[in-house]
This record gives sequence, C-alpha cells and structure tokens, in this order.
Amino acid sequence: MPELPEVENVKNGLTKLIIGKKIMAVDILWNNIIKDPSVEVFRRELEGETFREIKRRGKFLLFVLDNYTLISHLRMEGKFRLESSGQNRTKHTHVIFKLDNNEELRYLDVRKFGRMSLVAHSDLQMHPSLTHLGPEPVENNLLKSHLEHKFKKTSRPIKAVLLDQSIVAGIGNIYADEILFLSGIYPGRLAVDLSEEDIVILHQSILQIMAEAVNSGGTTIRTYSNAYGLEGSYQNKLKVYGKAGEACSRCGHTIEKTKIAQRGTHYCPSCQVH
Ligand SMILES: [Zn+2]
Repeated sequence: MPELPEVENVKNGLTKLIIGKKIMAVDILWNNIIKDPSVEVFRRELEGETFREIKRRGKFLLFVLDNYTLISHLRMEGKFRLESSGQNRTKHTHVIFKLDNNEELRYLDVRKFGRMSLVAHSDLQMHPSLTHLGPEPVENNLLKSHLEHKFKKTSRPIKAVLLDQSIVAGIGNIYADEILFLSGIYPGRLAVDLSEEDIVILHQSILQIMAEAVNSGGTTIRTYSNAYGLEGSYQNKLKVYGKAGEACSRCGHTIEKTKIAQRGTHYCPSCQVH
C-alpha cells in the first residue's frame, strides 16, 4: 500500500505530465471506484475542467481543477498512467479521463479498493476524507506536544497509534516499522507508557524517516512496483521492514517478524526494548 512518500512521488510524476491538460470526457468502467458524488454527476462535472495543480494530504492525492478538487486514495494497488488513446486498455483500467491532446489519464487498480471523490473547492476542507486527518509528519506541522497529548488518551500499542491517520497523516506499515527501529522502541509497547525521552526520540525519528523517504522517492517493492513516476530507492535503506531472519545492521541480532495491530511487524528484539 502506498504511504506518504510513494504518494508524493506519484504526485510529482503526474504533475509533470498533466498540468494544463483539459478533460474532454470521463469513462467509468467500475462504478464503485467513485465514492461521491454519483457516477453521473462525477462524469458530467469533470467535463471541461483543466488540471491546474496536484497536491497531497496524508495518503490522498488532490487534483486541483478549475471548479473542483478530485480526491483520490490509491489504497492497496491503485495507480495512474498517461497513455495515448489508441493504446490498449488492460482489464484493470477502471476510470479513464480523456484529455484534449489524444491522451488519456487512466486509473488502474487490480484490487479495486481505491476510491475517488469530486468536491467543489469551497467544500474541500469539510470533506469527510480529509477532516479526520492528523498533522503531516513534517517540522512545524507535527509537534511533539501533539504526540504527548494523543498518547495519553489511548491504550493501544505504539505501532497501532502510528498507523492511525487521525494522529499523524501518511504513515503506513513500512515507515511505522522503520520509525520504531530508529527510535529503539518495541512496536508492541503501549503509547501511554512511553517516557518523555522516548517521545522526543520518536518525534525526531518520524520527521527524519519520512523526510528521507520522500527525498528517496519512496520505497519500490513488489506490492507497489508500478507506481507512476520514477521508481523510489528507499528500499535500499530499509533496516527492518521485510528483513525478518536477517542480521540487524546495528547489533547483529536476528530481525524478527510478529503481528501487532493486525499488521506484520518487523523489529530487532535487541535494539528495540520492551
Ligand atoms: Zn539490533
């Protein structure tokens, strides 16, 4: 599942390709991809709109058009491709934005879990997809005091809390594991039990890992190998994610994999203290 750095990479790749291009028509081949409004209104209102800018909030892509913003969540395997109108469509193509230059922006999704919403600009901040999101994991946006405040109010393990988009936006399974390794915190520890010093280190680790991952263009692994844009290179920097059975780069102990918060969780039993 693409996380913040991968979605940021998709945003940057698509920005170079579609800004200034106008939508002439929209074909929707799998109605469930369109969350709101109705498929009919979605199709009608997009006609004649031009892509002006692409933004990102958490794991959501925000395509800014003339009058509307198209909100897209790729979920497990959604991806966009820009192809010429004559090029064959794969059976996984579910939404087609026909552009004014004989090109098509195509949305492909093997699992069909991705969702799109079309929202008038004035209603964007109130859209339910965005209202529950916590701060972006960047300096001046994610404050240590915010984490302290949220951690006090939960009885969940820290891994589950990091995955909670209402606490911090954009972190998924890969980066949660990497952040906790860098912090030296066992993923199953309860957030409420973290010391003030733990939270200082965790806060810094969140900012550092997410910045490095964005700068690397995200992680390109088998589950998300065909994202639009350039391939990321953060897979070469992973310390624990996908490394079960390998030696810890810090201490040499074998990396283990367990299940926490219903998710496969990778950690070093020696470096990450209970
Ligand atoms: Zn270790």
